[in-house]
Amino acid sequence: MAKYVISAFVADFDGTVTEQDTIDPMARLAIGQLEQSDAQLENWLSLSRQYQSQSTAVDNSFFSEFSSLESFVSNFHKTVEMPALEQVVSQKFLMGLKKEQLHQLGQKTKKKKLVEQVLIKLRRKSVRIEILSANWSTDLIIGAVGDYCDLITANDLLFTNEDPTTTTGEIKLKITSAQHKLNRIEQVMNTYGKTAFIGDSINDILAICRADIGILIGQNQLARQALGYFEIPFVDIQLRSDYFPDIHSGSVIGLSSWSEVDFFLKTHKLPTNDEPSNSSL
Ligand SMILES: [Mg+2]
Repeated sequence: MAKYVISAFVADFDGTVTEQDTIDPMARLAIGQLEQSDAQLENWLSLSRQYQSQSTAVDNSFFSEFSSLESFVSNFHKTVEMPALEQVVSQKFLMGLKKEQLHQLGQKTKKKKLVEQVLIKLRRKSVRIEILSANWSTDLIIGAVGDYCDLITANDLLFTNEDPTTTTGEIKLKITSAQHKLNRIEQVMNTYGKTAFIGDSINDILAICRADIGILIGQNQLARQALGYFEIPFVDIQLRSDYFPDIHSGSVIGLSSWSEVDFFLKTHKLPTNDEPSNSSL
């Protein structure tokens, strides 16, 4: 049994572990291999722009249509995430990629400073490490952090029967929504005990709220606005000065870097009783 403050540490991948989203380079790699790639690239850019515009900050009145954070994120999944995903599959943006290319893309993806060091340190404390991602390629994530974690739960690009190393453009979906991430976090908490989850966007928000330690990393405005609107306890401790465990235990923790994640976990104390400490939801 781990003596550390947590038994399991679960992290989102894109924008949490990585500096940039890996979806765009993955699609561009596939599109760049086409003989006539210009039209497909234009289609991709158009979808990408549309998605970006739908997932950035909104006017606060937008949230008033929803009675809870759960109903807001469920609507976001239905109206933003799923239509985009359907386009990705129907337009075969990710067709023709080799497994090896996905590994290599993962290997050369720039990770946030200190990610590996923090994960290695946690493993030395016998903390289970999982990646929980709505990324479309588990192979890409294996290339990036396969050596540092015990389990990766993400989606899989499918490969053709004729050539089992080349993608068809279809995706075997496992994790596409905030609810899917929440479900996995609850499984991890039930199986392994005290669990931290770290994520950067609206898709992570339910898991962040449910985990014993829920960390929102970075400055995603939509996620911050949603927490604020639905009055989820949140404390931004980017300057390491505003955190008071007696008052803030159970709040979502806002951090800006992995060095702060390291510092926070090292110094954090969870309540000693067996009740789940988080009451954000
Ligand atoms: Mg992310």
